[in-house]
Amino acid sequence: MAERLLLVEDEPSVAEGVAYALGQEGYEVEIAADGKTALDLFEAREFDLVLLDLMLPGLSGWQLLGAFRKQRPVRVIMLTARAEEADRVAGLEMGADDYVTKPFSVRELVARVRAVLRRELKPTGELEGPGRLSRAGVVLDQARREVTVDGQPVRLSPKEYELLAFLMGQAGRVRSREEILAAVWGTGAYLDERTVDVHIRWLRTKIEADPAHPTRLLTVRGSGYKFSG
Ligand code: CA
Repeated sequence: MAERLLLVEDEPSVAEGVAYALGQEGYEVEIAADGKTALDLFEAREFDLVLLDLMLPGLSGWQLLGAFRKQRPVRVIMLTARAEEADRVAGLEMGADDYVTKPFSVRELVARVRAVLRRELKPTGELEGPGRLSRAGVVLDQARREVTVDGQPVRLSPKEYELLAFLMGQAGRVRSREEILAAVWGTGAYLDERTVDVHIRWLRTKIEADPAHPTRLLTVRGSGYKFSG
């Protein structure tokens, strides 16, 4: 049976182009041009994957992401504009599986769709509410940008916070230094990958009981870092 996708996109030309291309690949695609329609469709039918434009009239992509995941686990790829670096990180924290930056090629999107459909559904249980992540004793409150470790508040620099949010949002998945740099520092600035190592070290002094033997923020030799999960 064809996998069913929900495409939430308010620009008709983008929506039609994407729907057509995915249709050619054998997917069944339904289009919602606004949040309300998207929510109605989501409640009425099962979807294997949601493609979610963040900039929508009415209900925002954020509110939708929260509303979807409140109901049931679902795979989500965010469609974001290039300037929305912070949004991507926040979206991944909130349980989105991946993002594609506009303007994207249809080929790239199809590849991402295939990859995400192969993944396990992320359980919604670990998200305690929109923008709130809780794993391994670390609680990250996206709305307040506050972090507690075993119930104790810890102070993080903005970059430490973003680094932690990025890795926690994808707990269990290894991220290379290059990917971390791009997500947390942006692709514009040239930075040495050791910048990542230094921030990881600082972060460990704040969230690990024994920073020399981390149990949360793990080094994966030859690959990068991951948050345990
Ligand atoms: Ca839009």
